[in-house]
Amino acid sequence: MVAPFHLAGTQIAPGSRQILQLALAQLYTQSPLTVPLEVVHGRRPGPVLLICAAIHGDELNGIEIVNQVLAKVNPARLKGTLVAVPVVNVFGFIHKSRYLPDRRDLNRCFPGSEKGSLGSRVAHFFVDEIVNKCTHIVDLHTGAIHRSNLPQIRAKLDCDITRQLADAFGAPVILDASIRDGSLRAVAESRGIPVILYEAGEALRFEPLAIKAGTRGVLNVMRTLGMLKPVTGKAKVQPMIAKSSTWIRAEQDGLLHLKARLGDRVSKGQCLGTITAPLGADTCAVIAPKNGIVIGCLTMPLVNEGDAICHIASFDAVKQAEISVERFVDELDIYPETL
Ligand SMILES: [Zn+2]
Repeated sequence: MVAPFHLAGTQIAPGSRQILQLALAQLYTQSPLTVPLEVVHGRRPGPVLLICAAIHGDELNGIEIVNQVLAKVNPARLKGTLVAVPVVNVFGFIHKSRYLPDRRDLNRCFPGSEKGSLGSRVAHFFVDEIVNKCTHIVDLHTGAIHRSNLPQIRAKLDCDITRQLADAFGAPVILDASIRDGSLRAVAESRGIPVILYEAGEALRFEPLAIKAGTRGVLNVMRTLGMLKPVTGKAKVQPMIAKSSTWIRAEQDGLLHLKARLGDRVSKGQCLGTITAPLGADTCAVIAPKNGIVIGCLTMPLVNEGDAICHIASFDAVKQAEISVERFVDELDIYPETL
């Protein structure tokens, strides 16, 4: 039997689960603003896995993923500890906003400081109270507002454990993504905590495909870490690592008629859609600059010159990547609205 787990002044006994409300700040009304979280503490030793969502307050799919994972985890059978934080940026969440009230992006404020800006203080609080107690992290995100992402993992793959977790998740595409200053990934990596970032769907939506794939992915990671019993006999999707990715940008202002969909294989020079004037004249073609798979799309048909329209990932074996995407969608058995 392991020792009790301590978080934010609360003791959680082995083989039990507890919901906590961490006092983060106050609203203008001086009502307390808390970060809700649940700790599931197993009886047997193992990793301390943090799953967190809504660092960008309008990214909702991850919140539902956290809830569905929690529903499947039994403290009597768990090895190690699961720390589940469905809404990190509670300020942004209550305003349906990606940002904090001071317009900062919380995911550029880490590691933060006790005496800094609001974003810096929130980041410091989160690192101090939660991140420092964890051994592994899965950070759940969606595309921005009006942009949808094919389920994908972003991670720094030069760490063997991170790479193992990225593979285990079972999303069809992995991007070997460099670390951005001020991100949760940056602070976790600097403390030697392996972290993978899941991106799927669009802000302000609950999307069944993104949620089902994310829930399955987190449970796969927990099995790989030995926290849950492995399941045998089921072949899983072979994730493909993209060698690079690029956004296609609008070359003129107008109305976008995009034919390409998430998961499509596209060829260099292929017409993926058009941008027209309101009466249909002055048509400009949207051309794929290289071969690849569409992993991100604008979902709103109004564009200004320079707006990002389509995110294309390149692969050494693009046909194999297309097969991985098809198998992934077949396995989930949900027809995605945006594919
Ligand atoms: Zn995000």
